Amino acid sequence: VVHEKEETTEREEEDEEDKSSDEGLLLQAHHAMERMEEFVHKMWEGRWRVIPHDVLPDWLKDNDFLLHGHRPPMPSFRACFKSIFRIHTETGNIWTHLLGCLFFLCLGIVYMFRPNMSFVAPFQEKIVIGTFFLGAILCLSFSWLFHTVYCHSEGVSRVFSKLDYSGIAFLIMGSFVPWLYYSFYCSPQPCFIYLIVVCILGVAAITVSQCDFFSTPQYRGVRAGVFVGLGLSGVVPTLHFMITEGFLRATTMGQMGWLFLMAVLYITGACLYAARIPERFFPGKCDIWFHSHQLFHILVVAGAFVHFHGVSNLQEFRYTAGGGCAEEGVV
Ligand SMILES: [Zn+2]
Repeated sequence: VVHEKEETTEREEEDEEDKSSDEGLLLQAHHAMERMEEFVHKMWEGRWRVIPHDVLPDWLKDNDFLLHGHRPPMPSFRACFKSIFRIHTETGNIWTHLLGCLFFLCLGIVYMFRPNMSFVAPFQEKIVIGTFFLGAILCLSFSWLFHTVYCHSEGVSRVFSKLDYSGIAFLIMGSFVPWLYYSFYCSPQPCFIYLIVVCILGVAAITVSQCDFFSTPQYRGVRAGVFVGLGLSGVVPTLHFMITEGFLRATTMGQMGWLFLMAVLYITGACLYAARIPERFFPGKCDIWFHSHQLFHILVVAGAFVHFHGVSNLQEFRYTAGGGCAEEGVV
């Protein structure tokens, strides 16, 4: 670059009038400089090493039971996305929800293309079940994106962590929609009220997750509590359903078994997350695989799939029963 610049000065002395060729040379020098910068950037992007927890900046210090294998701060989105293919503390977190996201995307597309003759009200039902898929896909994609760019910078990690938390609320709200629709098929008024209530609670959860303190390590338990609480608001419609339909009908056609399994999966995930099990008992042994956050991610995908299974059974029941409603009951 310096050499080219010297040449430029020489030329200027020789031929001061020929300005256009000077500009050409300057442009060339500029391009050379850009290529050099790009090369240095690429070298740096590929050359980072994982670092121990104690040298991380404060904003990356989330879980002090994961002793080693952390990505350093990397203020380049390209470097962050390339790190998806490297082994570090976030690899499992990224892939569990990246693959989960692709799975629900495919499942959703297949479901939306099911023939209309297998539904009572195809258009309405596809929107209702589509809401669940939308919630699941938003939750899983915000999550893998957050875990990918978490090490970019303090500002970026803050924005994406808020998206990540909002995604959980979307998944929960989206899960309520088809479940309430089919469970209270013949009593639209309670169905509508429960839907409004879960939306208000969901928006409240999203609002509180926009506060900066919410993402700090001290609030881990509060975070788990907020989302478990949002999910458990489903206890009220569940009891309503059980009282009007009776236990037997609730477990058979109401799919309560699957719903209960889903709750167990989500709550187990939230407990592992809040208590940081198993890494709490084996600090430094679960740095890369099987730490609490990864197990929590797997349990979320499993819970969402169990919910989908329950909902698609409810849909099948509705199809067999036809669109009519009996005098009593909510289904
Ligand atoms: Zn996560």
